Amino acid sequence: MKSTAQVVVIGGGVVGASVLYHLTQAGWTDVVLLERRELTAGSTWHAAGGMHTINGDPNVAALQRYTVQLYEELEKSSGVSCGVHLTGEVMLADSEDRMDWLRMVHARGRYLGMDTELISVSEAAQKIPFLVEEHFVGALWDPVGGHVDPSGVTHAYAAAARMAGAEIYRNTWAYDIVANSDDTWDVVTEEGTITCEHFVNCGGLWAREVGRMCGLELPILAMEHQYLVTEQLPEIAPWLEATGGYGVGAIDFGGEIYTRAEAGGLLLGTYEKACVPWSTTETPWDFGSQLLTPDLERIAPSLAAAFEHFPIFADAGIRNVVNGPFTFAPDGNPLIGPIRGQRGHWVACGVMAGLSQGGGVGLAMANWMTTGDPGFDVWGMDVARFGDWTTPSYTKAKVMENYSRRFSISFPNEELPAGRPLHTSAIHDDLDSANAVWGSSYGLEYPLWFQRLGAEPVEEVTFHRSNAFDVVADEVHATRTGVGLMETTGFAKHEFTGPGARVFLERVMANHIPESGRMALTPMLNHQGMLIGDFTVATISTATDATDAADGPERFVVFGSGAAEGYHERWFRSQLRVARSTGVESPSEGRSSGLESAREDRSAGGRVSYRPLSHEMAGLSISGPAARDVLASLTTVDVSNDSFRFLDVRRMDLGMVPALVARISFTGDLGYEFWVPASLQQRLFRLLTEAGEPHGMRLFGLRALDSMRLDKGFGAWASEYRSVYTPWEARMDRFVKLDKGDFIGREAAAASLAAGPERRLCLLRIDVDGADALGDEPIWHDGEVVGWVTSGGYAHWSEASCALGYLPSTLADAATRSGGFEVEVLGVRRAATRLDEPLFDPSGARLRS
Ligand SMILES: Cc1cc2nc3c(=O)[nH]c(=O)nc-3n(C[C@H](O)[C@H](O)[C@H](O)COP(=O)(O)OP(=O)(O)OC[C@H]3O[C@@H](n4cnc5c(N)ncnc54)[C@H](O)[C@@H]3O)c2cc1C
Repeated sequence: MKSTAQVVVIGGGVVGASVLYHLTQAGWTDVVLLERRELTAGSTWHAAGGMHTINGDPNVAALQRYTVQLYEELEKSSGVSCGVHLTGEVMLADSEDRMDWLRMVHARGRYLGMDTELISVSEAAQKIPFLVEEHFVGALWDPVGGHVDPSGVTHAYAAAARMAGAEIYRNTWAYDIVANSDDTWDVVTEEGTITCEHFVNCGGLWAREVGRMCGLELPILAMEHQYLVTEQLPEIAPWLEATGGYGVGAIDFGGEIYTRAEAGGLLLGTYEKACVPWSTTETPWDFGSQLLTPDLERIAPSLAAAFEHFPIFADAGIRNVVNGPFTFAPDGNPLIGPIRGQRGHWVACGVMAGLSQGGGVGLAMANWMTTGDPGFDVWGMDVARFGDWTTPSYTKAKVMENYSRRFSISFPNEELPAGRPLHTSAIHDDLDSANAVWGSSYGLEYPLWFQRLGAEPVEEVTFHRSNAFDVVADEVHATRTGVGLMETTGFAKHEFTGPGARVFLERVMANHIPESGRMALTPMLNHQGMLIGDFTVATISTATDATDAADGPERFVVFGSGAAEGYHERWFRSQLRVARSTGVESPSEGRSSGLESAREDRSAGGRVSYRPLSHEMAGLSISGPAARDVLASLTTVDVSNDSFRFLDVRRMDLGMVPALVARISFTGDLGYEFWVPASLQQRLFRLLTEAGEPHGMRLFGLRALDSMRLDKGFGAWASEYRSVYTPWEARMDRFVKLDKGDFIGREAAAASLAAGPERRLCLLRIDVDGADALGDEPIWHDGEVVGWVTSGGYAHWSEASCALGYLPSTLADAATRSGGFEVEVLGVRRAATRLDEPLFDPSGARLRS
C-alpha cells in the first residue's frame, strides 16, 4: 500500500468510485480509494438501480442528466457493462396541482435541453397498459429515465479509474484521520497510514462516522427503504416484448410508488409516510452487505394504492422484498464540497439517488478539487448550506419529513414544519402577536408577511397567487406611502477587525472598501472571476469606541445573504489561511471542527480577526418616505439628508440602545437599518413601533421586500447572483474596480470583460393570469428558448408581474427590441417585455434624498 497520495477517497460505493474516476479524468492520478470491505458494500449493492433526469431543482436535474449520459461512454472506456436500460419513464399526476408541478418541471427542462413531453392519461396508458386511467389526470413522459446495474456502474468507474493510474485498496478500513501541522492528513488503516493532501469522505452509510473522526457532525441520517419484486407475470409478456424486454418505468405520485419491470415480473418501491430511520446514533462498522427485516405492514397503505391504481399487483405473488438503508441530508439533496476551516477535507455523501446523481457529483467534486470551482451550479448541494443548528435531532426530524414527502408536491410558497421553530429572535413573540406568518432560513424564523388580525396566520400553498397577495399589497403600499418596519436579523454579518483587516478585505472584495463611516456594495469573486458573493461592507471607526479600539482603528461589518453565511465563512477562512501562508497577512486559522467550527479566527500577530456574528447581532429596518421622521424622533443626531447621507453608517444612542445605524434599504426607498446586540432588539423594536405610530408605520415581511425589490429590479443572492455568473453578466459592472490593485478574480474578470459577457441579467414585465413567474421558467424569443428566469413575482407598487432572468447579450440591451419575449408560466407562454429601467424610482432619488 502507498504511504502517500495526493487524494484518498474513503468509500467504494457508487459515489466514491465516481469521485475517483472523475479525479483521474481531471488529470489527478496520484489518487487512492479505501474500501472497508468489497466495492458496493454499503447501500449501493441493494439499490433498485432506477435513474431519472427529473428533479424539482434544475441544477440537480442537470447533474442527473450528465450521469445518465455518462454511462455509455463509461462502458466503452472501462469495458465493464453498466447494465443500462433506457426504458423511458412516465410520471403520473393524480391532481391538477401535481399537473402544475409537472408543467413546471417540463418547462424548466427546456433550457437544460431536456426532451420531456406532457401526455394525456390515455397516452400514458399506452405506455403502461396495466394502469387504471380514472386515477390520473395527466402525465409527463421522460424518454431518458430507466435503470442500471448498481454494481456494474461502480465497477466500471473503478476499472476506468485504475486504468488511468488510481489505486483501490479493498478490505481496508480507514479507522482514524489525523490532521498534521503541515496541512496534510494521515488516513490511518489496519494496513498502514497514508499521508495525503486531500481526503474525500464518500463513506455513504458511514459518512457520519467518518466525519466524526475529524470532529464533524454531518447532517445525514439513514432511512430504511423497501421495494418488492413480484413473481413472473405472464400478463405483461406482450408489453415486455413490445418494449424490447424491459417495459417502461412509472412514478405514481398520488400512490407514492414507483414501478418498473424486473425479471419477467414487476418491481414496486415506495416512500412510506410511516417511515423509519436506521441506526440513528451510530452505524455499526460490522454491518456488511446485509438487508434489514422487511415490514410489509408499514407499506400497507402504499400497497393498497398500488392494488387500486395497478390492479395487476393485487394477485401477484411476491418473489422478493428488499429492505435496505440509505442516507439523506435534511433537504434530500447531496452534501458535497470542502469543509469550512479544514483545508483538504472534502465530503460527497448524503447522495440519496447515487445511480442518477453519482456521476454529476463526481464531476463537480473533481472540478472543485482540481480547479477550485465546481464548474456548474451546486448551490443546492453544497455542504455549506447547513450550519451549526443541524444537530442530530434536527437532522432526524427533517430527514423523516423529507423521506415521507418524497412524492408529495412541493409548492413554491410552502414552509415545511419539522424542526421548527428553532432559532428565534428576541422579538419573535411581538411579531407572533402581530399575526406573523413564519418562514425559516439557516435555522432562524423570520416573518414572511403579517396576516390581518383575527384571521389565521397561515398561507395557502399553491402555484398561483395565495391568500398572502392582498395583504402583502397593503404592506407594500403602507411602506411606499409612509413607513414600514421589518426584522432583518436573518442577514449574515461577518465581522473583521485588526490592523490587517482593510488589506485583507481589499484583497477578497472586488470594490473599494469604504472609508470610516461609509458603506459600499461589493461583489466577491473566486479565482475564476465568478460571482461568489454580494455584500454591503460597513466601515466603522473605532476611535470613539474604547471596546473596539484595541482591535485597530477600524471595524468592518460585511452584510450578506443569511442563507450563505456558512458558504461565505468557508471562503473567508480559507483566504485568511492563504494570506497567512503567503505572508500577505498573518492570520492564524487553526483547524476548526467544520460545521461546528470555532467562531473566531484571530491572527497570530493580531493582524486580522474574523467572526461571523450570526444571531448575536440583531437587525431591524425601517423604510419609506416617513422613515427619516421616525429616526429623527429617536435621536439628537442630525439625520438630515446632508448630514446622514445614503450609505452613511454611524453609531447612535436611540433611547438608551447603542445602535449601528446604516442608511440603506433593499426596498429601494429611503430607509435605515439598525444593528444592535440581540438583548437590546426588543427595546429598540418597541421604541421604533411607538415612534412610527403617528406615521401609520406597518410591519412587513419578506414577501413585501421581494415585491419591492422587483419594483427596482434588484438582484439577490442565490437567485440572480450565483457562482455560475460573472459580475458583468449580473450587471455589477459599477461595483467591480479593476483598477484598484490586485484582488482575487481580477485577472479572470478582466478577461471575461474583454471577451464580452455572453448573457446579461434583465428585468421583464410579464402579462400573466393569476400566476406569476417564480424562478427557472424558460424565456422565449421568436419561438426559441433563449434564457431563464432567476426569480419572479408581483411588484405590487408598480402593479406589474415581473421577473429577473438571464438573456443572451444580443437580446439584453436597450439597443435591441424590448418586445417579442415570452415567459412560460405553468406551461403557458405569456407575452413579456424587457424593461430597461426599473419601474420604481429609476433615478434613485427616493433612495438618495
Ligand atoms: C432499497 C434501496 C433502493 C434504492 N434504489 C435506488 C435507485 O433505484 N436509484 C438510485 O439512484 N438509488 C437508489 N438507492 C440509493 C442508493 O443505494 C444510494 O444513493 C447509493 O448507494 C449511495 O452510494 P454511496 O457510495 O454514497 O454510499 P454506499 O453505497 O453506502 O458506499 C459507502 C462505502 O464506503 C465504505 N466505507 C465507509 N466508511 C469507510 C471507512 N472508514 N473505510 C473504508 N471504507 C468505508 C463502505 O463499506 C461502503 O462500501 C436505493 C437504496 C436502497 C436502500
